[in-house]
Amino acid sequence: MQTSFSLAQLADPNLAESEKILRACVHCGFCTATCPTYVLLGDERDSPRGRIYLIKTMLERDAPATPDVVTHVDRCLSCLSCMTTCPSGVHYMHLVDHARIHIERTYRRPLLNRMLRAVLAAVIPNNRRFRTALKLAGFAKPLAPLFAWLGLKPVAAMLRLAPARLPAPVTAENVVFPAVGRRRGRVALMAGCVTPVIAPSVQEAAIRVLTRHGIEVVLPQGQGCCGGVVHHMGREHDALAAVRRNLDAWIAEADGKGLDAILITASGCGTTVKDYGFMLRNDPAFAGKAQRMSALAKDISEYLAGLDLPRPATAPGLVVAYHGACSLQHGQKITREPRELLSRTGFVVKEVPEGHLCCGSAGTYNMLEDDIAKRLLARKVANIEKVRPDLIAAGNVGCLTQIAAGTAIPVVHLVELVDWATGGPKPPALNGVSIVAPARAAEPVL
Ligand code: SF4
Ligand code: SF4
Repeated sequence: MQTSFSLAQLADPNLAESEKILRACVHCGFCTATCPTYVLLGDERDSPRGRIYLIKTMLERDAPATPDVVTHVDRCLSCLSCMTTCPSGVHYMHLVDHARIHIERTYRRPLLNRMLRAVLAAVIPNNRRFRTALKLAGFAKPLAPLFAWLGLKPVAAMLRLAPARLPAPVTAENVVFPAVGRRRGRVALMAGCVTPVIAPSVQEAAIRVLTRHGIEVVLPQGQGCCGGVVHHMGREHDALAAVRRNLDAWIAEADGKGLDAILITASGCGTTVKDYGFMLRNDPAFAGKAQRMSALAKDISEYLAGLDLPRPATAPGLVVAYHGACSLQHGQKITREPRELLSRTGFVVKEVPEGHLCCGSAGTYNMLEDDIAKRLLARKVANIEKVRPDLIAAGNVGCLTQIAAGTAIPVVHLVELVDWATGGPKPPALNGVSIVAPARAAEPVL
């Protein structure tokens, strides 16, 4: 694609990077077929190619974002399905991240939208505030239809998605869980912001399965939200502050007792952490640290796939519909490992039709773009139910919450299933569900 940036504009390293991305696009349009918003809405401006044009024009003119551009960029899920499809290697993620920063700097949103975004940005990344907000939302859940009727759809969506009861809090930092038996490795487990509040059982399962297989786990002091929630809102300053905080925490641990990996159970966070090197490339004080820590970052499934996990004595034979989170399959290109892990631990893995399409979760998308998110959820659940699974497994807390809101089939994090099949307890999402436990696995060879 031809571009017409001035030399002065290209002196800005961020614009120069986006120009390179824009020039790689050959307008072939292959990406449109796999873009969830184009598939649903059929509008070129809601396709990757259409958005690329809109972003190009906005950046070239160096003008404030227009309402039209904001609408179509806001509707983008950042699912990155387009990046998997694109034959020319267009790095859409970095382009849309840049566009979001430009929008945040130059566009004044309507008051309600501005307030909602400010609340989400202040609450979600902070464990304590998030927990309090969810408790309040739990009480106000019955009022969701009223808020929807008043036209306050994002508030209604927040209430609908909030769990009726919150699990007890877990320790989130500055704890070491020693390996059982001979120590084979030492890793940091990133707790993140949403998982410890909504699904602490995921973190507990990860710790159990890792320590049981000889891996020491540390929750480093000072780590927190990956920065992804605010990054996707274009709040660059807040996002980079979160990134630097995490880097300081992990570097201290890596340079202290050492780290073989930084493990992440929420693939949305993993995609962001693996991009830290890029996000801080222009910061001389942090660029090297960011690259070093990004290189250590691994999704939990990626790491577990490299361990010698035992095979269960008897296959449990439960049919699992595996939902590949977009951030995992498109953002990190991890597709084989989760399926292999489930098969190795005795589950029967079923592919979900249209598995490349997003479930509509996408960070805060299911609150801010409620209508599209609901349509994507209905489509995802219909596809999952076609394979008649006993369970649904995914590797991202956002997808777990979103899909659970649309089906009665239990939705479980993959690491909880691996833990269960290798000697851990039944995942809480299966309590009260009549499902036979997997046969106890043989002890691992350490
Ligand atoms: S598939 Fe790639 S090159 Fe083709 S239009 Fe989409 S982004 Fe551009
Ligand atoms: S990230 Fe997803 S929603 Fe956005 S343009 Fe690409 S495919 Fe479409």
